Amino acid sequence: MAIIRACVEKMTGYTPGEAAGNPRTVKLNQNENRYPPSPRVAEAVARALGGLNLYPDSASRRLRRAAADLYGVAEESVMATNGSDEMLLLLFRCCCSPGDEAAGFRPGYAYYATLAAMNDVRYRPIDFEGEFHLPERLDPGRAKLVFLANPNSPTGTLFPESEIRRLLDAVPEGLVVIDEAYADFAGQSAIPLLGEYANLAVVRTFSKGYSLAGLRVGLGFARPEILAQFEKARDFYNLDRLAQAGAEAALRDRDWLEKTTRLIVASRERTAGGVARLGLKVYASGANFIFCRLAGEARAERVFRSLREQNILVRHFGNPGVADCLRISVGTDADMDAFLIGLEKALEQS
Ligand SMILES: *Cc1c(COP(=O)(O)O)cnc(C)c1O
Repeated sequence: MAIIRACVEKMTGYTPGEAAGNPRTVKLNQNENRYPPSPRVAEAVARALGGLNLYPDSASRRLRRAAADLYGVAEESVMATNGSDEMLLLLFRCCCSPGDEAAGFRPGYAYYATLAAMNDVRYRPIDFEGEFHLPERLDPGRAKLVFLANPNSPTGTLFPESEIRRLLDAVPEGLVVIDEAYADFAGQSAIPLLGEYANLAVVRTFSKGYSLAGLRVGLGFARPEILAQFEKARDFYNLDRLAQAGAEAALRDRDWLEKTTRLIVASRERTAGGVARLGLKVYASGANFIFCRLAGEARAERVFRSLREQNILVRHFGNPGVADCLRISVGTDADMDAFLIGLEKALEQS
């Protein structure tokens, strides 16, 4: 008798970008924010330390209230989760039975396929067309869930609202999940479409724009009747007191978010210009990273290794179609200067 479910035994675990062992490493491989979070986060977390003997609010009411105010939706349309990963897991847990199908666009975030595998769901990749456009003919098949990150990772592509609407119209039987992990850098969201589309779910995170990857907080937005079901299936105390207090403080400090995202967007454009001047193809990005193409897979691999030897970590994906590309997170201006110097050297050597 097998103890482990076959779908789990067969699956390959998700491989996150490698963590840096050295504090001097220029770490540009996981799209973390290199600016600190709002100072109000530390103050709120310090205050919350006094209550650690008590259970947290299971419903994360204050955080959800702040999110509902900010995004102009009802509190019942917001759910707070332990990283956006928990929201993604709940989508599979609540919407898919074993043997069901889910779909997502390729190249895209690899974790959707990992979650599908662990829930015994078949995951069907749908290839983008040309330079990462949604296909002319959108056919979701029998997919219960269709994932699109906007802006997309690893490509950085920002899809206009008209394309999101086209996707929502093409999936009448399933739920369209717009993963807005990088939307704070793009200033565009599908949340206002919730009133019009019952088949929409939007996932946000505090890990990128708010610089709180270590706190593990995400938000999910959908119609109240959908979230009421998800609420039953989540961990009962999914967010601890520190996470709830810190995320709420971050959400309320609009000036900090605007100031730091503006700096990152300016560095992104400057870096993209520098990379293009070195002769690489750079794709337009609405996120806190750039995606560029080199002349061939072997060259991309050599440049990746050369950067790594110089203590500069970027992301190289081995997948077909993007194996000649590199994804570079946008850090501070000093990080990006170091990267551009390192890249020039790596290109000379490769
Ligand atoms: C970084 C990222 C997330 C965030 O995950 P968390 O669990 O909230 O840290 C989600 N989706 C995509 C596409 C991402 O790149």
